[in-house]
Amino acid sequence: MNTEEIMALDKEYVMQTYGRQPLALKKGNGSKVWDVEGNSYIDCLAGIAVNNVGHAHPKVAEAICNQARELIHTSNLYYTQQQVEFAKLLVDSSPHDLAFFCNSGAEAVEGAIKLARKFTGKGEIIVMNNSFHGRTMTALAATGQKKYQKGFGPLAPGFKHVPYGDLDAIKKSISEETAAVLVEAVQGEGGVVLPPEGYLKNLKELCGEEGILLIFDEVQTGMGRTGEMFASQTFNVIPDIAALAKGIAGGFPMGAILASKEVGGAFQPGDHAATFGGGPLACAAGKASLNVILDENLLSKTKTNGSYFKSKLEQLKDDYDIIKQVRGVGLMLGIEMGLNCADMVNDMRERGVLVNCTADKVLRFLPPLVIEKEQINVVISALNQVLKKYSD
Ligand SMILES: *Cc1c(COP(=O)(O)O)cnc(C)c1O
Repeated sequence: MNTEEIMALDKEYVMQTYGRQPLALKKGNGSKVWDVEGNSYIDCLAGIAVNNVGHAHPKVAEAICNQARELIHTSNLYYTQQQVEFAKLLVDSSPHDLAFFCNSGAEAVEGAIKLARKFTGKGEIIVMNNSFHGRTMTALAATGQKKYQKGFGPLAPGFKHVPYGDLDAIKKSISEETAAVLVEAVQGEGGVVLPPEGYLKNLKELCGEEGILLIFDEVQTGMGRTGEMFASQTFNVIPDIAALAKGIAGGFPMGAILASKEVGGAFQPGDHAATFGGGPLACAAGKASLNVILDENLLSKTKTNGSYFKSKLEQLKDDYDIIKQVRGVGLMLGIEMGLNCADMVNDMRERGVLVNCTADKVLRFLPPLVIEKEQINVVISALNQVLKKYSD
């Protein structure tokens, strides 16, 4: 099928929930993808921070194939070696002690909220304006952007929204009923917004003083994206609970909740579950993918290439007034433009680079962590041409 035929069938048979680009992808390798017409692209989105080890990594593909031939699903009524091995590897690579496995980011966030409520015996969660936590009903209620919520009320109660970066606002919102503060260490969908200096550290201290839990939504920032395995390590602030998904299993759908022994121990048999959660196939993919991050030194590569990429974006900012700000850490980068950047995404694609536009004005770069310096140079050169076009 060609692109047009695929788009026609999508229109006929698939609920039209997505504003898709007119592009049908067929295969990928590392940081490159090919469409069904045979055109190639440098992928600076990585399936939205999912394909951290690159597309079709042979180690991940092999692990999935081998596991699929042996055992795909068991339910959690039984043990599997794959689940305990991946739990150990994930916990050992993190500042946390215990894992629970689920299947998506929204599910991980909801599980984190349930765990915080079970541990504290309280209901209220303080969340941030401009945040994004997923599309299921409770994750949607936690999300701090009206555009995602419109038309889907009534929203789940129990969330108090405050401005991101404002510690005083959190202080004022804490009550007898507060269980936790839920925050993205770096706001992703909100436009790659970094925490103000000292904010997360002070927040952790405040939570300690008030006896409430700190939850990081690391669904986008986790698995090496910011240059450490987790953003909590990049900012040197360890939350009580972390929600993970996106990059956790090399593109295979999976989510997880990580917590300290004390907090994670609040979940007792029967408290929480997911039929597919931590199945042998997902865990085999997760283990292979995490081992690639470690074996290929992708954390230090992300730091080096992320700084290089960011410095190149900053050079472009000097040349083009339409760039208002360059933001980000590791390979989670964004440039805020003085105009809506939706059309620039098309211009970039026509020049062989996939990016997206988030929060209307932020052109976002989330490449696979395996991206090479030469590929970054190609991206910068395409971006230079596009910025020139929009500056005329
Ligand atoms: C993508 C994302 C989610 C939702 O993940 P899904 O797998 O789409 O449910 C939640 N939180 C953050 C920070 C995200 O970036």
